[in-house]
Amino acid sequence: MSMAETLLIDGQWRSSADGATLDVINPATGEVVQTISQATVADAQAALEAAERAFPVWAEMSARERARVMHRAMDIFRGRLEEAARLLTLEHGKPLNDSRKECAYSADVIDFYAEESRRLEGTHFAGDLGPTHSFVLKQPVGVVAAITPWNFPIDLLAWKLGPGLAAGCTFVIKPPSEAPLAATLFVRSFVEAGIPPGVLNIVTGPGRTVGAELVTNPISRKIAFTGSTATGLWIAEQAARQLKHVTLELGGSAPFVVCDDADLDIAVPEALRRAFSHTGQICISVNRIYVHRSRYDEFVARFAEAASRLRVTADGIAEPDADMGPLINQAGLETVRQHVQDAVERGATVLTGGRAPDGPQYARGYFYLPTVLTGVTRDMRVMREETFGPVAPIAAFDTLEEGVRMANDSPYGLAAYVYTSDLDKAFYAAKHIRAGGVGINVNDITDIRGPFGGMKMSGIGRELGQPGMDAYLEVKHVRVRVRPPR
Ligand code: NAD
Repeated sequence: MSMAETLLIDGQWRSSADGATLDVINPATGEVVQTISQATVADAQAALEAAERAFPVWAEMSARERARVMHRAMDIFRGRLEEAARLLTLEHGKPLNDSRKECAYSADVIDFYAEESRRLEGTHFAGDLGPTHSFVLKQPVGVVAAITPWNFPIDLLAWKLGPGLAAGCTFVIKPPSEAPLAATLFVRSFVEAGIPPGVLNIVTGPGRTVGAELVTNPISRKIAFTGSTATGLWIAEQAARQLKHVTLELGGSAPFVVCDDADLDIAVPEALRRAFSHTGQICISVNRIYVHRSRYDEFVARFAEAASRLRVTADGIAEPDADMGPLINQAGLETVRQHVQDAVERGATVLTGGRAPDGPQYARGYFYLPTVLTGVTRDMRVMREETFGPVAPIAAFDTLEEGVRMANDSPYGLAAYVYTSDLDKAFYAAKHIRAGGVGINVNDITDIRGPFGGMKMSGIGRELGQPGMDAYLEVKHVRVRVRPPR
């Protein structure tokens, strides 16, 4: 693979049809990490056709054989995990330990679904209305367009490839232009493991042209998308015109509810990590903190003090255990600035942060300090929109009912967190918060075995767990008349 032959079409590494390239930028320094090919609509079409040709080959292969290829690919990937993690840190800015974690988890997801494919079962029953027998078969949906964002470019791809490949689907992947390098290396492991040509294709390029072609071209039968709600809505409309399957993992605005009996020794560091790791650029990041009034002052003091001590790194490789790096680009930084400014203009107080860190090492990147706001109200943009940055607004509540109401006061419903020592309060909150995942005394709702996805404007469908596999399968009812022997 030469430098610019980074598209994968029908098993071949290629440059784009018109020779266009794009620069992948390190958001901590503004430097070019690598120049890669930028796909055209014609490349996307060629990739879809290759995936269509490969579909019967892959779908007909035994589950055992598919599982072997997937495991082999992950053995290869684990051998280059450090290389992938370094690339991820260079293109995304996250500290190296966070990149290592993402790479390792992605490999686990592929291994998990490789095994799940071998346990896939249908059902059989005797007919209800006569001498018939029925078989319910599960079959792969077909060619999948996998469109992913830059915040977890490998992980969110693995959540799609794992179950989809296990089910027998083939893929055209459109990685994010901001961070396509480590994801491409991940896919290269499958190619080297001997996956048949055309099963996996990569067309890195603009969403509006290349991504749109993958969505609207009749060859793709499923769109597996993670990204913003705005793009997800457009995709849902287009997919509806051809009744394509969709899994849409969209934006979030996760509430973090601290009850009067919460253990702050746990709640404070957990809120801190989920608000500021990845510079707040996680769909399940803590966006709104609600604390029972009896613990409000104590929580705010401890949280703001700890936030002011977080380490922001401009070199995530040299400081692998730093707390956070830069935002992904100028637009991301601008959103954060505007949300904080809007909050301050409407009466919020900045307890810490609210600006870029000092120091020459931060001069060329998109940096913003961990920021804590109090005196916030529900009309502020930080409370209503997805800031996708290191900003934590804190408000008080008086009763748990009120806390839950405030938690639900958002168009989004992806993740929520509740900290309490009382089982009754935990169950009440878990039941009444409208979110696809609720963490009780735990700040991450992700587990390979559990369904992950959103309610309301956070999406449709689930990834991971058994639902994550069902999302790549059609269900077919085969009904057989059984005649008595003549
Ligand atoms: P985005 O919607 O701008 O882009 C996501 C992907 O879609 C990119 O690959 C982009 O090129 C592509 N795209 C853009 N327009 C398209 C179009 N018209 N047709 C097809 N593809 C198109 O989102 P982003 O800014 O890259 O990612 C951040 C967003 O992702 C946040 O809102 C975040 O909450 C969300 N996210 C959600 C989850 C989840 O699981 N729910 C996980 C991570 C991120």
